Amino acid sequence: PTDPNSMFKEGFLAAVYQERADLPVFTRFPPEPNGYLHIGHSKAIAINFGFARFHGGQCYLRYDDTNPEAEEEKYFTAIQEMVHWLGFKPFDITYSSDNFDKLYELAEKLIQVDKAYVCHCTDAEVKLQRGGENHGPRYACSHRNRPVEESLSEFRAMRSGKYKPKEAFLRMKQNLEDGNPQMWDLTAYRILDATHHRTGNKWRVYPTYDFTHCLCDSFEKISHSLCTTEFILSRTSYDWLCDALEVFKPMQREYGRLKMTGTVLSKRKIGKLISEKVVRDWDDPRLYTLVALRRRGVPPGAILSFVNEVGVTTAVTNIQIVRFETSVRRYLELTVPRLMLILDPIPVIIEDLPDDYLEEIELPFSPKSPEMGTHIVPFTKTLYIDRTDFREVDSKDYFRLAPGKSVGLLKVPFPIRATTFTKDPETGLVTEVRAVYEKPEEGVTFKKPKAYIQWVALSASHNSPIKAEVRVFNPLFRSENPDAVEGGFMKDVNPNSQEIYSNAVIETGLEEIRRRAPWPEEAGEKDIGKKAGWETVRFQALRVAYFAMDKDSEGGSVVLNRIVSLKEDAGK
Ligand code: ATP
Ligand code: MG
Ligand code: MG
Repeated sequence: PTDPNSMFKEGFLAAVYQERADLPVFTRFPPEPNGYLHIGHSKAIAINFGFARFHGGQCYLRYDDTNPEAEEEKYFTAIQEMVHWLGFKPFDITYSSDNFDKLYELAEKLIQVDKAYVCHCTDAEVKLQRGGENHGPRYACSHRNRPVEESLSEFRAMRSGKYKPKEAFLRMKQNLEDGNPQMWDLTAYRILDATHHRTGNKWRVYPTYDFTHCLCDSFEKISHSLCTTEFILSRTSYDWLCDALEVFKPMQREYGRLKMTGTVLSKRKIGKLISEKVVRDWDDPRLYTLVALRRRGVPPGAILSFVNEVGVTTAVTNIQIVRFETSVRRYLELTVPRLMLILDPIPVIIEDLPDDYLEEIELPFSPKSPEMGTHIVPFTKTLYIDRTDFREVDSKDYFRLAPGKSVGLLKVPFPIRATTFTKDPETGLVTEVRAVYEKPEEGVTFKKPKAYIQWVALSASHNSPIKAEVRVFNPLFRSENPDAVEGGFMKDVNPNSQEIYSNAVIETGLEEIRRRAPWPEEAGEKDIGKKAGWETVRFQALRVAYFAMDKDSEGGSVVLNRIVSLKEDAGK
């Protein structure tokens, strides 16, 4: 895994730090509580929380809750959970709405210093004043020069209910000559007939993003206000407002957004996938919301590692799903234990072993990391192998099990050779394979088989195997850019985005992995592991893929999600 601090040590973020190295570091992650966080937000979380941690500062989690129409309780909780899951602890959890009184006072102050006025123009009129569609000349409206006292009493009238929404609003008196649209007398306050999540019906006037954001940053003494590049032009109005009100001025700097191709992230589109029953919910493992990635089994450390690998500059980064998966795979390869799992089992009876034959075989949890330890699996007369590891007819270039052919069983001392098999006459599927154990005579050397396969033995005394339902996920969309498909993204849905193996079997090492989870013990996962086992149970199923335990295992059964395949092009 990549050093999760590499992005702070050099490049864009190191330079941004240097610009205000004189101040104690305070940053903030300011989500609007109007939806679930997605992979793009993990970049903002990693940057803001990571920057503060790296520089010995603090980061606030600030709910930017000035738009009462879209907010819901469940989002507040979910956002906090995801920040925690990624391993960060907010210095404090704040709400923009907690500042409504202060903001209102500053709005009056802005009017008093003649830098704001109450306007009654329509949207269309304002548009024309800003030059209109054809970028014509810009001009002031008749309200711009009304006396300060008049604006002040009109603003109070807005607050006390004299006006309906859109009949009046407060505008900043900026600079229409400036080439930057963010200086064209932006709206500071508007009237909304809405009940606010926290302030109820106390307010009829609500501050806009442009008015609120920089001032909340200022109240919290944010030293480095990091946002995405769509806000580059807003930097001017940000600075203008702090200067106009003579308050502490944080430094805004902009980094490029993280975008994923081959999926959709917008709330509206995911909402549609759910309502049309393409996916089950916001945490469906095929989605790229953070709740979905967690459920799928992607470790939080892998997400942080991925953000570091992508790096932070001012450029927007478009990331393909395969690149994300490569990063996750690299992370899992070094951190999770290994097990044997059979997706589609067929029984193999080793005819020449006694009925009660039992050999205990020691398997390392990871051949590359001996410190992960070992575990014992039983080897008996009846075992399961995967249907794909047996062929009814042998051929020269085939090295797994077939009548007359030998194959190695991982970690079992000697190979087995298939003799016969039986088939279900109706389905044509192989139902049982018979084999012999090729244990040579004492002192005789044996030929090592060309291939080794995974297996799980039947053993009542060892409670083996463990049965599981395995969910294998493929990309949810067929193309790289689902939105560009004729008819829209819904027409691009991959009909095979989920394959279910309901009879999978796993060796008993799973029990120990569950007991010892989380592997590895990461900052954010420590507490979660105590709460619910399933969230941190991950392993590599040898020769199959990386898996994690799904939330549906809570009932006591074992349900596994494929996190990623073992190799990039596998399992498509
Ligand atoms: P969306 O429309 O996708 O929800 P948003 O900008 O409205 O995005 P916010 O809830 O305002 O989302 O996001 C909180 C923070 O996360 C903001 O600082 C925002 O800039 C940042 N952020 C959102 N999406 C991304 C992204 N794709 N890459 C990087 N940062 C992002
Ligand atoms: Mg936003
Ligand atoms: Mg948003």
